[in-house]
Amino acid sequence: MIYLKTDEEIELMRISNQLVAKTLGEVAKAVRPGVSTLELDKIAEAFIRDNGGTPAFLNYQGFPNTLCTSVNEQVVHGIPNNQPLQEGDIVSVDCGVLLNEFYGDSAYTFPIGEVAPEVKALLEATKESLYKGIEQAIENNRLGDIGHAIQNYTEERGYTVVREMVGHGIGKDLHEAPEVANYGRKGNGTKLKSGMVIAIEPMINLGKRQIVQEDDGWTIRTIDKKVSAHYEHTVAVRKGKADILSSFKFVEEVLHLQSEK
Ligand code: MG
Ligand code: MG
Repeated sequence: MIYLKTDEEIELMRISNQLVAKTLGEVAKAVRPGVSTLELDKIAEAFIRDNGGTPAFLNYQGFPNTLCTSVNEQVVHGIPNNQPLQEGDIVSVDCGVLLNEFYGDSAYTFPIGEVAPEVKALLEATKESLYKGIEQAIENNRLGDIGHAIQNYTEERGYTVVREMVGHGIGKDLHEAPEVANYGRKGNGTKLKSGMVIAIEPMINLGKRQIVQEDDGWTIRTIDKKVSAHYEHTVAVRKGKADILSSFKFVEEVLHLQSEK
């Protein structure tokens, strides 16, 4: 069952997602060599609560933290820990918030200092593939159009698409129907309707696409231990142009300021 949201509900979801966006912006200010993912987690939790929200992932099916922090070969669902991030690492930070009864969900993969050129290229391509997918999130298109756009853009560049983990509908539940795969065929799958709100979240690997779950019961990593990138926006399907409810504006303001230093 896919719940279509009213215009009023979409505005509430924009507020939830803007809190996620600002939280990722706070995380961006702290991301540097030597910081631990647990420190990032504490910053995010405090900021969300200070702004009247509830961390969506904390205690979700027993998940122990506010953020999912997935380093290097970790794809998604990494658990924050005390290990300091090192120059050349990447960390995917996935954040969810519940506010005014609606969820927001967005993720950004940060480079730690200078990363290898092939890793930087993977980050750029993964983020761009997210926007290629979002371009397809319009009324009367189909879910396969979104997946196809992401798959085509990334595979053309020699990357691989994680198949087992997918995006999702979102609203009063963190995960609603439909599943939003990052691969697919044009014209296939459920028809998109204005008012559907979906989280699109490509997980793109430098090496092979196969993944495995770590013994902690959460962390997903690549089998070949090559790096994986992950970006996510929550978007409302609309006629002609999707409405992106989350934002990387706050993150990228911080990152650009740092790179100008
Ligand atoms: Mg997420
Ligand atoms: Mg999600």
